[in-house]
Amino acid sequence: MQYYSLNNPQQKVGFAEAVIQGIAPDKGLYFPETIPTLSSNFWDTLDQYSNTEIAYTLLAPFVGDAIPEKDLKAILEDTLSFDFPVVAITENIASLELFHGPTMAFKDVGARFMARCLGYFNQNNPNKVTVLVATSGDTGGAVANGFLGTEGVDVVILYPSGKVSDIQEKQLTTLGQNISALEVDGVFDDCQDMVKQAFLDKEITDSMQLTSANSINVARWLPQLLYYVFAYKTQKDKAEEIIFSVPSGNYGNICAAMVAQKLGMPVQHFIAANNANNVVARYLKSEKYEPKTTIPTISNAMDVGNPSNFVRIQELYHNNFTKIQEVLSSYSYDDAATRKAMDTLIEQYDYIADPHGAIGFLAAQEHQQKHPKAQYIFLETAHPIKFLDVLSEEVSATIAMPAQIASLLDREKVAKKIASYEELKRYLLGK
Ligand SMILES: *Cc1c(COP(=O)(O)O)cnc(C)c1O
Repeated sequence: MQYYSLNNPQQKVGFAEAVIQGIAPDKGLYFPETIPTLSSNFWDTLDQYSNTEIAYTLLAPFVGDAIPEKDLKAILEDTLSFDFPVVAITENIASLELFHGPTMAFKDVGARFMARCLGYFNQNNPNKVTVLVATSGDTGGAVANGFLGTEGVDVVILYPSGKVSDIQEKQLTTLGQNISALEVDGVFDDCQDMVKQAFLDKEITDSMQLTSANSINVARWLPQLLYYVFAYKTQKDKAEEIIFSVPSGNYGNICAAMVAQKLGMPVQHFIAANNANNVVARYLKSEKYEPKTTIPTISNAMDVGNPSNFVRIQELYHNNFTKIQEVLSSYSYDDAATRKAMDTLIEQYDYIADPHGAIGFLAAQEHQQKHPKAQYIFLETAHPIKFLDVLSEEVSATIAMPAQIASLLDREKVAKKIASYEELKRYLLGK
């Protein structure tokens, strides 16, 4: 499989190079040259396959001959070694819980898959690869955990000071070994801009092999399509139409859902659930794509003013606005509405959601008013324990501390504060 740069379709590389580079030399995101359609028989008989078999069938075309079958199967088996349960909330709305991995964030799957692929490609390479990543919350922890101890790979994480939860901060600043954290005086978009600038800085790229681990990287982005297929497998008999509601920030996750649709998954519509950072909701109304500065919210992993993967959605549907409107709806909610939804979920449905999942639930409910017959699945993208500052004390007290989190709490934070690109550059060149 070849990947082309969205800035220039002539600029093509294989899977291994796309993963190692992260972003094309011309700053374009990589995009698969073809997306095969699997037979309807495969989709009808999904129940017969294990998660690893499904994952292999769906992802092997994207990996091509870059990783042999046996190794790819082992990577997938290891990457997917936890559950992806779908929990009924109301009669026609269910929660797809994506927080059962080691950092309790849905990003675990993408980060683990990418780490294992990169480790595979780099096993006989004497030169280290440095993964440089900006996080608005959960990416950092998932990447840090996924790459911890991977030989030949160093990880440098940038996060906005004071804008991630305490547990999130612990997850990315306490691991040590090949993982370092930089605490940036700014918002997520500042972190992301610094990372982008480093990739374009010849002085840096001449002296080290940099790669990204944001959903820009195809190995982070593509395996996310599996969640939808695993959930579809369990829910497909509930209604003729299945609709996913996806709490969206950089739009990597929902764009992966759309790739699953191209692969033939019989789902026709997706909902992008937004907090106040709602550039896509506004675009769907006006056809104008107008990014704004990031607004900080309690669902901080979605505090993204200019989502990097939206260009991939446009590419998938050939920039056809009517088509995009057919496939995608978007709703946005402020913090007050989010808190209210979290309360409703507890009081009426005995379900503790995190702020991101709660927004997914709200969007599913709103869409349901127009399309009442469908079965809705919202993605619960993080464990609520990671948002204790948003939950009331009574509610927090009822959540059992998961072992993955408990082991972090006493560990000491190690992070270097930076405030400008120059400081990042000096840090990287000094490594
Ligand atoms: C990253 C993240 C999101 C947003 O996912 P995108 O792929 O960036 O749209 C939503 N919720 C949580 C908890 C996240 O960590």
